[in-house]
Amino acid sequence: MKDYSSYVGIVGGGIAGLTAGCALRLQGIKTVVFERSEKTSEYGAGISISPNGFGLLEKLGIKDSLMNESFSPSRVVMSHLNKEIIAMETEVITASRQNLIKVIHQRYLELGGEVFFNHECSSLDQGACEIKFSNDETYKVVHILACDGIKSPIRQKHFPSTGAPIYSGYSAWRGIGISNSKDIQFNLGPGSHVVNYPIDNSGRTSFVGIVKTEENGDSWKMKGTKEELLEDFEAYDEETLSLDQ
Ligand SMILES: Cc1cc2nc3c(=O)[nH]c(=O)nc-3n(C[C@H](O)[C@H](O)[C@H](O)COP(=O)(O)OP(=O)(O)OC[C@H]3O[C@@H](n4cnc5c(N)ncnc54)[C@H](O)[C@@H]3O)c2cc1C
Repeated sequence: MKDYSSYVGIVGGGIAGLTAGCALRLQGIKTVVFERSEKTSEYGAGISISPNGFGLLEKLGIKDSLMNESFSPSRVVMSHLNKEIIAMETEVITASRQNLIKVIHQRYLELGGEVFFNHECSSLDQGACEIKFSNDETYKVVHILACDGIKSPIRQKHFPSTGAPIYSGYSAWRGIGISNSKDIQFNLGPGSHVVNYPIDNSGRTSFVGIVKTEENGDSWKMKGTKEELLEDFEAYDEETLSLDQ
């Protein structure tokens, strides 16, 4: 048994786990994050942060470094099948999820936080504050934070009344291409919508296409073909789908 009894043990080194780690380190509380992967996630496409998140980014001291690695569109243009309905001012930070995680992770380390990769929690004892891992290691900590994502096995085991996630009826195509647009483009269509936004100053642009579908598996890593994508969005014109990559 490894004695980390003066540390808060955080299971999951995603956005929630690393953010919680930064917040605790800023209060001088010792923390250790246990992440099952061998490094922080490189998956994901664009992610947007609205003004209600800016205050937290500032408190954690990461707003400026994130701004350097992201974009701040000032307009959102709403259209229906490429016919503009309205353009509105907006205040939002648009980034790649990879950069967001990188910035939070760097800040966490700067604040003296520790991360143990290749540590997959297999069970935990809430009363004794012990966490067991599939590599046969056990850690004793002072408190346990479960930040193991939307499908959290810890939540399902220890808080069964919360239930499993329910499929919304919509699936999202995600990708990153190149475009000159500086706006958030929100395009509505039949049973679907497409959102594009720049994620940095070099023209990298996030594509999100949402379609109504039957549940067909759930993974951020599932791949589809360009033909399948074009079929799902055949009602839209070429300009909406014309990112260069
Ligand atoms: C691969 C991926 C790609 C995504 N891409 C986008 C995107 O492009 N745009 C967007 O808007 N949103 C994206 N999301 C969703 C968005 O990032 C999540 O809503 C947000 O990250 C939630 O943060 P979280 O920390 O609660 O969960 P997550 O980011 O899912 O983090 C949970 C972490 O816990 C770890 N973990 C799980 N189980 C265990 C265990 N037993 N032991 C140890 N570690 C464990 C996981 O490996 C993961 O690192 C993505 C999510 C994932 C998982």
